[in-house]
Amino acid sequence: MIDSHCHLTDPRLLEQIDTVLDRALQAGVELITTIATDPQDARLAIELCHKYPDRIRCAIGIHPNESDKYSPESIDPLKEMATDSSVIAVGETGLDYYWDTVDRRQQHRMFEAQLQLAQELHKPVVIHSRQAITDTLAVLKYYPEIRCVFHCFTGSMSEADQIIESGYFLGFTGPVTFKKNDALREVLRKVPEDRILIETDGPYLSPEPVRGKKVCEPAFVQYVLSTVAKVKDLTLDQADRLTSTNTRRFYWIE
Ligand SMILES: [Zn+2]
Repeated sequence: MIDSHCHLTDPRLLEQIDTVLDRALQAGVELITTIATDPQDARLAIELCHKYPDRIRCAIGIHPNESDKYSPESIDPLKEMATDSSVIAVGETGLDYYWDTVDRRQQHRMFEAQLQLAQELHKPVVIHSRQAITDTLAVLKYYPEIRCVFHCFTGSMSEADQIIESGYFLGFTGPVTFKKNDALREVLRKVPEDRILIETDGPYLSPEPVRGKKVCEPAFVQYVLSTVAKVKDLTLDQADRLTSTNTRRFYWIE
């Protein structure tokens, strides 16, 4: 298994990183992509990758809810950091109209600056889009060659359809395992197999059966995988092969 999106630099996971990685390995998670949310976090993520080069890769970027603290010039250090071989993507970046704590124009500025960076670096982009799918897709139309994953997808079938038609991937997280989320599982059932990634978004969003009981960590991606297997009528092995192949293809991991 691969946990395609989590935040290992969050203190809740970083403070116990060795045991977090041990538990991941025991659960069958061989690779983890840790996602940075600001430049300082990106530095930390790269350090972590260097410490565990066989286990961790990273994406570096500025989260939309952090984008009021930065300007497009803040992208320059990211560009330097991206020369490190552990950096496999730009993000997470995007638009968040749910919390709406940052002026939308500023969110757009920082989103576009990072898309330009990704284009220049030929790297895929990890998209955070909350209640902003239409605007996010409208911006992405200007960057047709960039490969994107809409991480932690919890939207409707029509939103999923638009993402699929644009050629992008969907990341499924804890919410797809929640008991009352039949609607999201129905969306997952219809999403083409080659567009599905699995992720934990740890330390957030623990899946069933550990929901609300434990800090979310990469080992729990097994629960997202078993939901994918059930919904897509695959064996665990088949679902694992499928999602691992998709993740490697998306991030261009050898
Ligand atoms: Zn995240």
